[in-house]
Amino acid sequence: MTTVLERIHSGLIRQRSLLSDWVRQTPESEKTLRLGPATEQSVQDRIDYIDTYIEKAEEGKLGECTVCHGHVQSALLEMDYTCCVCLEHLSSTEVRRLENELELAQRIQQTLLPREVPDIPGLEIAAYSRPAQFIGGDYFDFLKLDDGRYCLAIADAAGHGISASLHMASVQAMLRAIIPIASSPADVMQRIHDLFIHNSHFSTFVTFFIGIYDPETQVLSYSNAGHNPPVLLRTGDGEASALMLNPTGAVLGLVEEPLYREVELKLESGDLLVLYTDGVTEAVNPSDELFGNERLIECIERDRQRPAQAIVRGIRDTLERFVNDRALDDDTTFVVIKVA
Ligand SMILES: [Zn+2]
Repeated sequence: MTTVLERIHSGLIRQRSLLSDWVRQTPESEKTLRLGPATEQSVQDRIDYIDTYIEKAEEGKLGECTVCHGHVQSALLEMDYTCCVCLEHLSSTEVRRLENELELAQRIQQTLLPREVPDIPGLEIAAYSRPAQFIGGDYFDFLKLDDGRYCLAIADAAGHGISASLHMASVQAMLRAIIPIASSPADVMQRIHDLFIHNSHFSTFVTFFIGIYDPETQVLSYSNAGHNPPVLLRTGDGEASALMLNPTGAVLGLVEEPLYREVELKLESGDLLVLYTDGVTEAVNPSDELFGNERLIECIERDRQRPAQAIVRGIRDTLERFVNDRALDDDTTFVVIKVA
């Protein structure tokens, strides 16, 4: 018990310092992006919430049962540090719900990391991903759902290297386990958030974009948890225009009770959807300028008539010329999806 409590306590301390560093050090424009519709106050609320649990841990009251005043099973506490009722006081419905959650947690652990790029009817897809170090914290995925729809996802964990990549492995596993039982992108996001937020091992932030595409109707519905807005370049009637798929909720791990909305849009023939991580737009050239959204959009516009693979090559070459032999110091990933 002691070791579990100690582990949770140090995890909470880490989360707390991560959040207060974020509030102190993040530039305003970046805050607006990562918070989506949420406010900075909601981050403060989360810090206050964590503080109450740090206090409980220090007073030995973490996991104290509200019914019998004993301690809840440490396995429960490890799954969710806010847990405060022993198993034996739960109703049969509550036990069933908990069993479902345990089963889900088990499926998550068993899920490996195979990556398949499916042939999605009517879409042409190409992707590029390069870690800054030998292992990265970027993640993208395409999953086929049982009803014929497809999930397109991209995520970015704060930081680099092994710790970031481990966080991404868990997020990927969560996505794979949750997607078959969730009803919509916002529902998927909400469930991932719920698994993520009260587990003390996850003391990091993850930005996440989840889209679900139906090839029958060509409708894409998406939910964006503080991820860099994907670009939708529409070339319908001659003139190209870029639509940014802005955040519809806060970054995972940043806010205590975020609300994830979703947006639906119909893709048209010729549309180009580009998902990317901040390693692209925050790449820096020798005069310390950022690559930025505008250069990215220029690349996509310039090559829009070409195949998806050529557009990917175009972005990569432009980016490499821009940084001019400077090593890219962040993981860099982009996915180009062209509607036939
Ligand atoms: Zn009890």
